[in-house]
This record gives sequence, structure tokens and C-alpha cells, in this order.
Amino acid sequence: MTAPRFVYGPVASRRLGFSLGVDIIPFKTCTLDCVYCQLGSTGRSTVRRRSWCPPEAILAQIKEAIDSGQRIDVITFSGSGEPTLSRDLGFLIRSIKKMTGIPVAVLTNGTLLGRRDVRRDLAAADVVGPSLDAVPAALFRRVNRPHASLDNRKVIDGLVRFRDEFAGEIRLEIMLVKGVNDSPAAIEAVKKALVRIRPDRIELNTVVRPPADRRAGALSAAGLARIRARLGPKAEVVASFAKRKQAPASGDLDRAILVTVGRRPQTAADIAAALGRHRDEVLKALSRLLARGRIRRRDHGGKTYFAGVRR
Ligand code: SF4
Repeated sequence: MTAPRFVYGPVASRRLGFSLGVDIIPFKTCTLDCVYCQLGSTGRSTVRRRSWCPPEAILAQIKEAIDSGQRIDVITFSGSGEPTLSRDLGFLIRSIKKMTGIPVAVLTNGTLLGRRDVRRDLAAADVVGPSLDAVPAALFRRVNRPHASLDNRKVIDGLVRFRDEFAGEIRLEIMLVKGVNDSPAAIEAVKKALVRIRPDRIELNTVVRPPADRRAGALSAAGLARIRARLGPKAEVVASFAKRKQAPASGDLDRAILVTVGRRPQTAADIAAALGRHRDEVLKALSRLLARGRIRRRDHGGKTYFAGVRR
């Protein structure tokens, strides 16, 4: 049996540069079930923190990736579910900081920041990227479909408290779904909450990858630009990394593609950029993997994405 992989990439991240992903939560274990989730519907909805994976094995894989000499701009906790659901998160971040000077980022949905133990665990990170997509309770339920115990007012209070305590950079992401949380009233409510939360940056994103709910649509570039203007100078539309190149990934290309699309659906161009391979070479490998039923193809927003097949 193959040992579980907790580390993937480095992949060209739209938000952070060449990011070594660290995935410490079983597939789709989350406090939310967002309509736009690129991982599909939440299989395990929970707010209970646990030790899901052995921390020593995770740290060994991170060290191995650093020692391989590939370019890594940031080590990012993200992946198959909500990373703050891991009780080991604080220990892992502190251990990485002892191992390397590479910055550590955590992408979180922010729903557990009301808890002191979660805020304490995140304290050693350099960057935390929480999300806040909607403020009114009904809209929060519609977009993020939260665990029954979550109250959006408390989630926002947790974000405010985290800002008061956290010395690093907070890059708050707003995921905009066309016709759902992009109205002037919805944006005004988020803007008011942002005055209290005081993030360093506000990153606007939209449904560019195939979502859990097929009805969740993307905003146009013009729609995003209008909202960016309303949210002020800290707001930016997350840039595309399509043209950036990584040093060629070593090893077997089919295996590297399976690992990368197993984490999230990607276009052939995304995969080529992330793995530093020529697009034609990637397309050939994708055809092989499709023919063997190892990956599936899905069209969304006029682009073709490739995703892993769960066995
Ligand atoms: S988008 Fe993130 S927070 Fe939302 S359901 Fe998916 S993994 Fe959870």
C-alpha cells in the first residue's frame, strides 16, 4: 500500500506564488459546504478538532520537499478540507519555522477563529488567508452552507479578535458568486464588517473552477473590477499565474499530474505551469490518464478542467 501524501506541489498558486501545499485533513472534511467548493460537496461536516494525520510523517515529507531544491515561495496549509480542524496545526507551524525560513501560510475559512486554541495555533504563521463571503445570516447559509452550530456573527467576532492578536499578514478572501453575494447590499454589508476586521489585503475571487453546485457562476472581469473599486485600495482581484514557470518537476509526469489534479481541478495550462512542463507534453499525459479512467474532464466557464477520480 502507498504511504499517504500530505505534501503536494509546489504549485503555482493564484494567491501566494509557488506554494508547497500541506494537506492535513481527510478529503472534504470541513465546517462549511460552500456552493462554489472546487472539491465537491462536504462529505464530513464537523466543527470538532482532531489529530487526523501523524505530525511526524507530515514534517518528514515537508523536509523532503525542501531538501529537493525546487523553488518554494511559501509553505501553505490548505487542500482537502479546513486546516484549523487539525489539533496539530500549531505544533506543525512551529516545527516548520524551526526547520526553514520559508514563510508559512494558512488558508482557512475562518469559522473557528472564535476559539482561543485556534487563534493560538495560527499565531506562528506569517500569512493567514481567511474567507468571508457573506454577512447576513441567510446569505451566509446560502453561500457557505455552514455546520448547524455556526453563527456568522460569532465568526465575524472571531475574525476581529484574531486581527487584534495576530502580528502577521491577513489576506482576507471574498469568493463572489454571480447573482448570489455580489449585489450592492451584500457588498456593503461585507464592507462594514471589513472595517472591524482590518485585513492587510482583500482578495476578490470568483468561481473560476468547477464548483460543488453547478449553478454557482463566475462574475465577469468588469463585475469584479466594480466591486474592487467599492471596497477601496486594499482590495485586489486575484491575479492569474498562467504565464509563470516552475523548474521542471522531476519524476514521472503521470504521477505528478494525478497528485496535482487530485487536490483541485486544473486546466492543462495550470498543470503545465505548476509542473514546469510543455503544454503538449501535459496534454499527451492527460489523454493517457483519461483513457485509463484515472482522471475526468469537466467544462466550466468556457474552459476545460481535469480532476482526479476518487477510488
Ligand atoms: S471552499 Fe473551503 S471552506 Fe468551503 S467547503 Fe470547500 S473546503 Fe470548505
